[in-house]
Amino acid sequence: MTTVMGCIADDFTGATDLAGLLARSGAPVSLRIGIPDAPPADTAAFEVIALKCRTAPAAQAVAECRAALAWLKRAGAQRFFWKYCSTFDSTPKGNIGPVAEALMADLGTSQTIYCPAFPENGRAVFMGHLFVGRELLAHSPMKDHPLTPMRDSNLMRLLQPQVTRPVGLADRFTVAKGADALRAELAELDSAGVAHVVVDAVSNDDLAVIAQACRHMPLVTGGSALAMPLPALYMADGTWAAGQAPAPATVAARKAVILSGSCSAMTQAQVAAYVETGAPWLRLDPLELARHGHGPALHWLQQQDLAAAPLIYATADPAHVREAQQKLGRARAGEIVEQALAACATAARDAGARTIVVAGGETAGAVTQALGVTRLDTGQEIAPGVPWTFCNSQGHRLALALKSGNFGAETFFRDALERL
Ligand code: ADP
Repeated sequence: MTTVMGCIADDFTGATDLAGLLARSGAPVSLRIGIPDAPPADTAAFEVIALKCRTAPAAQAVAECRAALAWLKRAGAQRFFWKYCSTFDSTPKGNIGPVAEALMADLGTSQTIYCPAFPENGRAVFMGHLFVGRELLAHSPMKDHPLTPMRDSNLMRLLQPQVTRPVGLADRFTVAKGADALRAELAELDSAGVAHVVVDAVSNDDLAVIAQACRHMPLVTGGSALAMPLPALYMADGTWAAGQAPAPATVAARKAVILSGSCSAMTQAQVAAYVETGAPWLRLDPLELARHGHGPALHWLQQQDLAAAPLIYATADPAHVREAQQKLGRARAGEIVEQALAACATAARDAGARTIVVAGGETAGAVTQALGVTRLDTGQEIAPGVPWTFCNSQGHRLALALKSGNFGAETFFRDALERL
């Protein structure tokens, strides 16, 4: 099928988040892990390329995103979406702005919009200021992010140092007046030379207005939620003729494993809630892993009944994480845990698990790499921004749920298994 919209995501779970929201419309969505080596074949109407360029040097991120754009163009896409985090994770050097400007140049377009709002997850933009729940971004835990600390909440101020052309705002007063008013405002800003327009949104209705007004822009940028209304709009205006709805995806066996490498507050609560259910669990300690390797974890896994969906987790509170990082170094601690969980994933697959739930963005990257997965088809959503996905791994059809740290309710692991 010719691709209608091509999307580029700056990290892995961000890509699954986007794919899940696009798939809510019933649209076929395919997610590629990295830029495929081969030219486009067997493409879906909505294609998402997951990159890992959020914190890469800007020049590298730009080069990767341009290559992804070129692949998506070859797939037939004429509209493109640059997806970043709903907390606008970036630094004064990039990479949100530099990538947007490079994609605009390649597409020959003079203007794009920026809207990271994700109302269902509490992210709103008002008067160009980004809120996380009731707090301004710069007052939220994002102020302490290890790689992209967000110390300002004004998106225009955050974006301006990242780009060469003027930045402006289309505020909520305009969005509240509807799509025509917003389109007129954008046209006016365009004629005044404003290339980068932050657009306010506090609700899904606002996002619907923005999507309606901007659906024919060659490039739209934002969080995943802004893309959600687009498939239905493209279907309504004839841009996309939906074929048969994809058959509901299933996997053969009910054997499952849950792997958690995220240490976010939400994941800690999810691990505790799952342990409470009485399911079998194993806690990985990075210091033990450094001493003895992950052999003991694999041995434990071999003894388990996978029908009971055992949980293996390294999830720990900040004090324990700090202790491991001090002894092993931040990067090594992370790597050891990721390698152990990735080894557990392949061992579980080899033991018959066809369902794997993973918590953590980096962790999900390590697991999919170990499983040799390059493409995921998107299924039903478990929680806002977390869909079930389906893939092939060494000749087996697997269901994967890849959850970024902060997403999902406390009951996420149970929810995931029940929803499959
Ligand atoms: P999130 O989506 O919550 O950011 P990630 O998987 O992206 O989760 O990042 C968590 C990182 O923390 C991973 O690199 C993981 O290996 C590492 N990690 C997990 N548990 C521990 C631990 N107990 N001590 C130190 N690092 C850990």
